[in-house]
Amino acid sequence: MRLLLVEDDAMIGEAVLQVLRAEHYAADWVRDGALADAALKVEHYDLLLLDLGLPRRDGLEVLRALRQRHDRLPVLIATARDGVADRIAGLDAGADDYVVKPFDIDELLARIRALLRRSAGRAEPVFEHRGVSLNPATREAMLHGQPVALSAREWAVLEALIARPGALLSRSQLEEKLFSWKDDISSNAVEVYVHGLRKKLGNDFIQTVRGLGYVVPKE
Ligand code: CA
Repeated sequence: MRLLLVEDDAMIGEAVLQVLRAEHYAADWVRDGALADAALKVEHYDLLLLDLGLPRRDGLEVLRALRQRHDRLPVLIATARDGVADRIAGLDAGADDYVVKPFDIDELLARIRALLRRSAGRAEPVFEHRGVSLNPATREAMLHGQPVALSAREWAVLEALIARPGALLSRSQLEEKLFSWKDDISSNAVEVYVHGLRKKLGNDFIQTVRGLGYVVPKE
């Protein structure tokens, strides 16, 4: 899952970014509203974590512009503006959820997971499919009830595919979920992670559709 963090406070930004990456999210960070706008127009994110008080362009304006483009990206506002009127304005501008600083980081992560679930059309907190289960809250993967150790990127590939059984994801779609700006992408990276997953989960859990990408079959 790839997240955009918009935060002008260097200390908060660094801290949140570190936690997001420790949770295996690919995360990009920008510090003002204009850069946020630019990033949102060109990159494909799974969630936006948005501060409101920002240089160059206010967070609410960034949010309104996003929704005017009919972009359905899940948006979680994280701001020091704690008045009821501020919260209402944020939600009515198109945010999906709202936390007030100083927030508890574990609660923030739980809200992120909930939004990602809902945006994928799911209510169940654990992915379960063909003997494999993935729990994003505990980061536990199981095969037929036995724990399986996955690397952060194997996890990210598997999560993207298992979230929508039967849906084909191209290599570049998977790369977008795996890598932030600061990462170097080697040309066969996705193949390497899929190969690792097959060794751990069996050869047929993830299928290759030649020339097109990868799919976790429905049945
Ligand atoms: Ca701010």
